[in-house]
Amino acid sequence: MKIVRTIAEMRAAVAGLRHQGRSLGLVPTMGALHDGHISLVRAAKTACDAVAVTLFVNPTQFAPNEDFSKYPRTFEADCRLLEAEKVDLLFAPDTAEMYPDGATTWVSVEQIEDRLDGVSRPGHFRGVSTVVADLFHIVAPDKAFFGQKDAAQVAILRRMVRDLHFNLELIVCPIVREPDGLAMSSRNRYLSAGDRRHALVLSRALRAVEAQVQAGRTDAAPLIETGLRILAEEPSVRVDYFRIVDPDTLEDRPHVRDGALVAVAAFVGPARLIDNLLISAL
Ligand code: AMP
Repeated sequence: MKIVRTIAEMRAAVAGLRHQGRSLGLVPTMGALHDGHISLVRAAKTACDAVAVTLFVNPTQFAPNEDFSKYPRTFEADCRLLEAEKVDLLFAPDTAEMYPDGATTWVSVEQIEDRLDGVSRPGHFRGVSTVVADLFHIVAPDKAFFGQKDAAQVAILRRMVRDLHFNLELIVCPIVREPDGLAMSSRNRYLSAGDRRHALVLSRALRAVEAQVQAGRTDAAPLIETGLRILAEEPSVRVDYFRIVDPDTLEDRPHVRDGALVAVAAFVGPARLIDNLLISAL
């Protein structure tokens, strides 16, 4: 695996792969890798001749009061995992490389970026869409791989790819969970043993909603009530949102009959965790 720090080097390395006629898959990450990330790498390996992973903790997607400075950084361990997966290129630039002095250009996916996590994390998705657009320009992959775990991010990036005519296919991979149901996340490292137990209430709430949908209940209001009732079983968990929305626009849906995204965000100990359930049209 070639580790690349600069945009110029990355462009040259990609040109080398292209010269050999190889297709290229891109997996953007912020590091602190776990099996969720690795599932994206494996999907990319299966679908493309070569795989590039990017590792960049993007400062513009963190608000000043958020966890940018303490976000887990485990570069050596990440490299070992990616080596074992036979990743071709690891692009790990520093902030000055990605944001040249005086950078003032943003990619904003208006309206959608202000929904779901965008409500309590203003500016977050503008940071995400800007850095991902930048990575798409630098790497120019055939396919880019993202996790369903970040469902709002998926909606925003899909819209961005469509609106700005990026010449790539966006592939979304399923949520990877711990055996007890907790969605894997780099932020799970923040949880104490007690927090870790309490955090299970998120997936439990989603499963309760899923069971009700399977039993034929499709109106959003009582389904949301069910989710909130389960979440209330852990009083130390503070709910940010529990919503049933259109997976593309992130607008509230009155029922799930045409398919819907059931999404939750909650504060557990020092971590803000998200999880979701995608319901297909009935
Ligand atoms: P991050 O490093 O948290 O920015 O995540 C990088 C990519 O991994 C994003 O596309 C995430 O959606 C994806 N990802 C994170 N956690 C999971 C998970 N548990 N299952 C599947 N994909 C995930």
